Amino acid sequence: MSHHDERTFVMVKPDGVNRGLIGEIVSRFEDRGLQLVGAKFIQIDEELAHEHYGEHADKPFFDGLVEFITSDPVFAMVWEGADATRQVRAMVGETDPAESAPGTIRGDFGLDLGHNVIHASDHEDEGANVREIDLFFDDEELVDWTRSGTTWVYEDV
Ligand code: UDP
Repeated sequence: MSHHDERTFVMVKPDGVNRGLIGEIVSRFEDRGLQLVGAKFIQIDEELAHEHYGEHADKPFFDGLVEFITSDPVFAMVWEGADATRQVRAMVGETDPAESAPGTIRGDFGLDLGHNVIHASDHEDEGANVREIDLFFDDEELVDWTRSGTTWVYEDV
């Protein structure tokens, strides 16, 4: 693995899917120079929702969160690049769109905490990216490849 092979898990939530934001969100990560290595359009079931958001099981918003995330399809992705987890979180913004800076995805496309458009692995929770990729993707669903133009993204390639 070279330094730019870090992988992170990202998901356009049902509000983003219904609002037609999949393409816009994919474009932002492509434009940044990150490389897509896996993607799937799925409807999350109760079991997967409970596994993915298990850390919030005792929170007052948990039932509403599970209902929301299972209500319609999501677009799940794995993106690869240097420092990908932290860089993607910076592009996503704060948990609450109302607190997110313009220019971030939540800051540009959301106004409400419960409908914050996108999920991305927490860079402060070590291993969250690997756990979430494993939860949503089988190994054979992830593609090892090098995007054309990579030499123009990184100086040392
Ligand atoms: N959430 C919510 N109400 C809250 C806090 C969180 O509905 O008061 C939802 C919101 O969709 C958020 C998700 O729970 O994205 C997971 O919360 P977390 O703190 O992990 O935020 P994230 O990592 O998504 O920024």
